[in-house]
Amino acid sequence: RNVDKGYDKTLKLIVIGHTSVGKTSVISSFSDNSFKIDVLHTVGVDYQSKVVKWKNESIKLQIWDTAGQERFRTLTQGFYRGAAGILVIFDITETRSFDQIPFWVESIHENCPQPPVVFIIGNKIDLTHIRAVAFDTAEKTAQQYGLKYMECSAKMKTNINEIFRLLVETIMDKK
Ligand code: GDP
Ligand code: MG
Repeated sequence: RNVDKGYDKTLKLIVIGHTSVGKTSVISSFSDNSFKIDVLHTVGVDYQSKVVKWKNESIKLQIWDTAGQERFRTLTQGFYRGAAGILVIFDITETRSFDQIPFWVESIHENCPQPPVVFIIGNKIDLTHIRAVAFDTAEKTAQQYGLKYMECSAKMKTNINEIFRLLVETIMDKK
């Protein structure tokens, strides 16, 4: 264990999906130390960075957010490069954002020679009264790609920690 650096490994995680689905909100609600138990520290740079505990190791997560380029569907190869984990997010109240899932999954296939761990995420479950995409529908789509489906609310911080924890665990178990 490298005591100077304060962590043993770095994992790059990226968050993609249609505009306004809550990508930035998901990242910032996870980066809020006040509701995290296993966070050691957070450092703000061009990506969100935080150190979490996994078994006996300290793992630095580099969580990359888009700077709005997803609006033009022009994320660079560099954005995907080296990503160990990817959250593909849509908004459960916006069918249009769900319809974009195939595009984003395809972009992963095109940009990531080594397949990362990918989860499909339905965000904004606090808005169930205006839900437009059923859980089962989304789960079936994810399963067609061989991917896990989970839901969350960045606003209420529901399931955010669980998603990142499972993502990190799945990546680490694969290594
Ligand atoms: P991005 O374009 O994907 O990064 O989306 P943002 O994080 O900027 O969020 C877009 C809008 O959706 C903002 O007005 C957020 O406040 C809102 N939003 C994000 N997450 C949630 C959520 O879980 N629930 C609700 N009700 N609104 C959310
Ligand atoms: Mg954003």
